[in-house]
Amino acid sequence: MAAAEEVGARGHRAEIFEATAGLGGRIAPDGLASREIFLGGKNIGRRYRRFRELFDRRGRADYEVFGPESGQVWRGRVRELSFSSPSMKLRLGGRLVLRGQVGGGRRFLRLARQVKRDPGSAHLGDRFFEDLALETGDPTIPEYVGTALCRDVVRHMTVRMNAAEPEECHLGNMGTNLGLIVDRFDQLTGTALGDWIRTVQTVHTTHTRTRIAGLTRKGERVSGIVGVNGDERRFDGVVLALPAHAAALVIGEQEAALSSLLCTIRYFPVGVVVAEYDRPAFPEAFAALTAPEGMALSNAGSYGLRDRHIVRYTFSGRSARDRIRPDLFDPEALLSEAEGFLGRYAPVARARRLDFAARAFQPGLCAYRQDHAVCLREVRARLSALPGLALAGDYMRGASLEACVRSGQEAAERVLTGAHRADGSQVEPVGDHASVG
Ligand SMILES: Cc1cc2nc3c(=O)[nH]c(=O)nc-3n(C[C@H](O)[C@H](O)[C@H](O)COP(=O)(O)OP(=O)(O)OC[C@H]3O[C@@H](n4cnc5c(N)ncnc54)[C@H](O)[C@@H]3O)c2cc1C
Repeated sequence: MAAAEEVGARGHRAEIFEATAGLGGRIAPDGLASREIFLGGKNIGRRYRRFRELFDRRGRADYEVFGPESGQVWRGRVRELSFSSPSMKLRLGGRLVLRGQVGGGRRFLRLARQVKRDPGSAHLGDRFFEDLALETGDPTIPEYVGTALCRDVVRHMTVRMNAAEPEECHLGNMGTNLGLIVDRFDQLTGTALGDWIRTVQTVHTTHTRTRIAGLTRKGERVSGIVGVNGDERRFDGVVLALPAHAAALVIGEQEAALSSLLCTIRYFPVGVVVAEYDRPAFPEAFAALTAPEGMALSNAGSYGLRDRHIVRYTFSGRSARDRIRPDLFDPEALLSEAEGFLGRYAPVARARRLDFAARAFQPGLCAYRQDHAVCLREVRARLSALPGLALAGDYMRGASLEACVRSGQEAAERVLTGAHRADGSQVEPVGDHASVG
C-alpha cells in the first residue's frame, strides 16, 4: 500500500494485485460483534514518522495514546514492566549481579542508547548494527547480552516483534527490537486504519482475489506479471510487496539464486484472540500482562485505554507454535487457558465473556536470519541485474509498520527512477505504469 501510494504521489499510475478478498495483509480489519477491530498490527510508535506522514496525505489522522501500563509476574506478583521504572531497574540490576552478567547489561544499554539517539538504527540496513554483526560474527542475542537479561527483558521484545525466542534472534537485527522499547505507542482512533486501507484500495486500481504466480521479462528487464491462470499483464515496473517466501515463489526458477536466498529468511507464526467481556478485565494498576516463558500466551493487553473490557491475547514464541498451526488452531482452548492465567491477577476471572474474534497468522512475524545484512546485500546485488523489479516487505527494513512503509516507498522509488545495472550504468526511467503485488 505504501508503494502504491508513493507511485501515485509521484504522478504515476499503480495497480495493486492482492491474493485475498481485501487489502491490508497483516493489518487487515476484522470484526468483533458490530465493531471493527484489528487482530494484526495496529500500534503506531511516536517515532513512526513515515507511517504518520503517509496517513496524513489522505487527511489528518487522529491517534489515541496506547501505552497500557504493562505488568510482568515477578515472584508470584505483578510488577511494573517499564524500562524507565526505577523499581524494574533495581530488580534487573540485582539479577544481573547475582548471575555475574553485568557486562551483558552494559552492552544492552549501549545498544539501546544508540537506537534512542538515532531512530535510523531501529531499521535493518543501518550501518551501526551491520558493522557490529560483522565485528562479532553476528551471535544470538543471549550470546551477546547474557541469559539473565533475555529472560526478563529481551524475550518480551523478541516474542512481540519476531514471534521468536531470544536465541532465535541475532545481534545484527537487534536494532529493530530496541526500536520497540525506546518508543511510545499510539493507535489510530475509531475506524481510521480500516478507512485508510479502504481508501487506498479504491483510489488505485485494485484486483483482489488475484494471486500473482510469476514475472515476465523483456530482455533483462522485468516487464510484467503472470496470474495463477496464466494471464500476463505488462507494466513498466513491478514491486513485490510480499513476505519473503511468497516473493520467492513468484520469482521462482527464473532467478533461482535470488529465490533461494529469500527462502532462508525465517518467519514464526502468531495467534491473536480478541475477547470482549461484560466488565473491565484489568485492575487500575495495569492494563497489560506479559506471560512467562513456557506458556503459549505471550501477552494479554487491553484493546485500548478506554477498552479495558476488551482483551487482546497474543500467542507467540516456541510454546505457542504447535498450537497455532492452521490445522491445530483452537482459539477457544487457547482463550480459556489465557483467561485462567490472567484471572489469577486481574478481574477478568469474574467477567462474562460476550464474544471473541481470532486469527492465526502464518506467516506471522519475520525473525530475519543470521548475517541478515549480508543476505540483503546479496539480494540487492541480484536485483540490480533485474531492472524493473523491486522488493518490499518486513524483511527489507524490519517488521514494524514504520519499517514496512519505508521499504514500500524505497521500492517504489527504485522502480520509478530506473535501476542501475550491475555495471553501474542506468536503465532508462520507466513509463507511467507500475504494479504492486
Ligand atoms: C499479530 C501481529 C501484530 C502486529 N503488531 C504490530 C504493531 O502493533 N505495530 C507494528 O508496527 N507492527 C506490528 N506487526 C508487524 C506488521 O503488522 C507486519 O510486519 C506488516 O504488516 C507486514 O506487512 P507486509 O506488507 O510486509 O506484509 P503483509 O501484511 O503480509 O502483506 C502482504 C500481502 O500480500 C498478499 N499476497 C501474498 N502472496 C501474494 C501473491 N502471490 N499475489 C498477490 N498477493 C499476495 C497477502 O495476502 C498480503 O495481503 C504485527 C504483526 C502481527 C502478525
